[in-house]
Amino acid sequence: MKHYTKEELELYRHGQMSVLGRVTCASHLQKCEECRELLKELEAEDDFVKELRSSLLLFESVAKELPKAKPQTATP
Ligand SMILES: [Zn+2]
Repeated sequence: MKHYTKEELELYRHGQMSVLGRVTCASHLQKCEECRELLKELEAEDDFVKELRSSLLLFESVAKELPKAKPQTATP
């Protein structure tokens, strides 16, 4: 059985395969645990990247707010 590569599954995930390619891939995925796992991995990586991005955005917005915050003056 021919397995799909990460690159091919990426194309599949993003709908960048031809219709025939997608149909073939979908039916392969139904039968093939290995490729389903690989696809899951890609999705997990995606979630990780999204999370990373959102925490970066959060960090950026916090960093922007910081200069506005009153500096804490140390009492002598
Ligand atoms: Zn496979």
